[in-house]
Amino acid sequence: MLQLVDLHVKYGQIEVLHGIQITVNPGEIVTILGANGAGKSTTLLTISSLVKPSKGAVMLEGAPLHKLPPHEVVRRGVAHVPEGRRIFGTLTVQENLNLGAFTRNDTARIHQTLDWIYELFPILAERRRQLAGTLSGGEQQMLAIARGLMSQPRILLLDEPSLGLAPLLVKTIFQTIRNINASGVTIVLVEQNARAALKLAHRGYVLEVGRIVLEDSAQGLLANPDVQKAYLGGA
Ligand code: ATP
Repeated sequence: MLQLVDLHVKYGQIEVLHGIQITVNPGEIVTILGANGAGKSTTLLTISSLVKPSKGAVMLEGAPLHKLPPHEVVRRGVAHVPEGRRIFGTLTVQENLNLGAFTRNDTARIHQTLDWIYELFPILAERRRQLAGTLSGGEQQMLAIARGLMSQPRILLLDEPSLGLAPLLVKTIFQTIRNINASGVTIVLVEQNARAALKLAHRGYVLEVGRIVLEDSAQGLLANPDVQKAYLGGA
């Protein structure tokens, strides 16, 4: 479905992705593990066409995405929930969600999506008229994911969805990601919380300073001693 082919990315003169290959099949949850600065966020930004590759390609169902403007990538069915949430604090929950539907003009179906989102995130339904800036951190993260879903994506890119959340909320977010996937949305997940990510994912890639050094089923990665040592805090 989604393929990164020999993807190189530079910031100025400095290359930070050195020819990575990633394949995402329909219906999968694929996680990208890696230390700080490995290039995980850059990988997601490149899929969204917010960052352009210096070489290689991002292909969605055989068509190149990297030549399109970011809004056109959203139109093709790829939504990006960036690290740090980036919601609009001075707008209400409902207004933030409406913005997520900017590529759509099918009003009746937008209402259906909204109903589905309020089912997935009941707390957002309760707070639909509240200013987003006054939501708790966990609620803001839910809003960021919900806003991404408003474009009705086939692929959802999630950058550190559990960052800064209390353990109980992390559980809720991961369960919600599972539910979103069960409804048919393919997911690419970047997470510091490697153990939780691998428990959720079908497959994973390990990125080390701009190179994929390992790729396996999530179970295979969980059982891999090198992965355990580097990313799972020992055995
Ligand atoms: P983290 O988990 O800390 O966010 P990451 O794996 O997502 O790390 P990236 O944010 O993709 O890593 O960064 C990869 C490398 O690119 C890092 O060395 C970073 O300093 C550099 N980098 C990221 N964004 C920029 C930018 N806008 N300009 C220049 N260098 C950048």
